[in-house]
Amino acid sequence: MAKKITLLGSTGSIGTQSLDVIQAQGYEVYGLAAHSNVSLLFKQIQQFSPAVVAVVDDEAAKKMRTLLDGMANAPKLLCGKEGLEELAAMPQADIVLNAVVGIAGLPATLAALEQGIDVALANKESLVTGGYLVTETAKRKQARLLPVDSEHSAIFQCLQDAHSAKTLQKILLTASGGPFFGKTKAELQHATRQDALRHPNWSMGNKITIDSATLMNKGLELIEAVWLFGLPPEKVQIVVQRQSIIHSMVQFADHSILAQLGVPDMRIPIQYALTWPERVPGPAPELDFTKLSSITFDVADEETFRCLAACKKAISKGGLAPCAANGANEEAVRLFLEDKISFLKIGELVEGIVESENFAGSYTVQDVYECDRMARAYVLEHI
Ligand code: NAD
Ligand code: MG
Repeated sequence: MAKKITLLGSTGSIGTQSLDVIQAQGYEVYGLAAHSNVSLLFKQIQQFSPAVVAVVDDEAAKKMRTLLDGMANAPKLLCGKEGLEELAAMPQADIVLNAVVGIAGLPATLAALEQGIDVALANKESLVTGGYLVTETAKRKQARLLPVDSEHSAIFQCLQDAHSAKTLQKILLTASGGPFFGKTKAELQHATRQDALRHPNWSMGNKITIDSATLMNKGLELIEAVWLFGLPPEKVQIVVQRQSIIHSMVQFADHSILAQLGVPDMRIPIQYALTWPERVPGPAPELDFTKLSSITFDVADEETFRCLAACKKAISKGGLAPCAANGANEEAVRLFLEDKISFLKIGELVEGIVESENFAGSYTVQDVYECDRMARAYVLEHI
């Protein structure tokens, strides 16, 4: 029987590429969810005939209701944040692919895992904000977390040999460096939204593209790696690899290093998360070594890109510090995209919140949302 997938965030960059993979593999779509892009979601419904659909935005949900009223075999429609969570928990799916952006994805990750459903996770913010709760729930319910983020997929692929994996010593997390690699603070003083949205290697949603420009994305990924692979943060080294050909590397007890390489195409890690432990042919092109002139390595500049330094500080502080850093960043990126704050201000705000409190200790899911609200309020008070 074909695998049944519930895809959350289906209208986004990862969402649409996931549907490419799902179609190529002949998988069945059980559920689709999006925030407000009703026209694209409706096309996806027509093409993939899901049993259930969730629309988070209320106005958009009303529009969807109207469209579905005229449709034969219309899917069941769920609305709001509750609808997203309800869909994530529906046990008819074999796997929930969470491609929502931001902490908005956390409740769905927890809801799916709580039902013992495997989660293919693109939504790194789930692990950054609620890493302890997410990994604890997965363990307790014996559900799997399958990484979709390309670096984490690379690491996961390098750890498939259990004998080697148990001697994992170090992770070499690669970073493209983003559009502002090599720039100084003075040069970034007037960096605009347009400059920041121009990523050299990947075409992605706006939020993660800004995160790549500030290196917040690498900070979030470092935290994500700590939760997924159980190494302390000082054992995760960031290596700038400008061409995004090496997607990450792992080092074992004997100092042997394994790397995963390929073209920068998210359909490879998306597909691996869905087909694991199998590897099957897919739609991504092969890497052409005759056209590849060099693979270069550099060190990340944490003095200029303060978000990365702040994330390192946050994970070493522990507790809710990463959640606070994430909340401040989400709010700051929103303001930057609205041209309300400067590029460098994002780093200042993220660093400011991490320094502002202790944050250590255990937490509940309510504490996570409270901390997120507090971090957003902090940003609004400091601009
Ligand atoms: P995107 O902005 O293109 O798409 C986001 C999706 O989430 C959309 O379908 C949108 O409808 C939905 N969404 C937005 N707000 C929501 C809310 N409040 N509730 C429910 N749904 C909501 O983003 P993206 O680039 O596809 O990124 C998605 C996630 O994958 C992010 O966590 C990102 O960090 C991660 N990721 C993306 C890439 C990439 O190449 N795009 C690579 C690695 C990881
Ligand atoms: Mg990544």
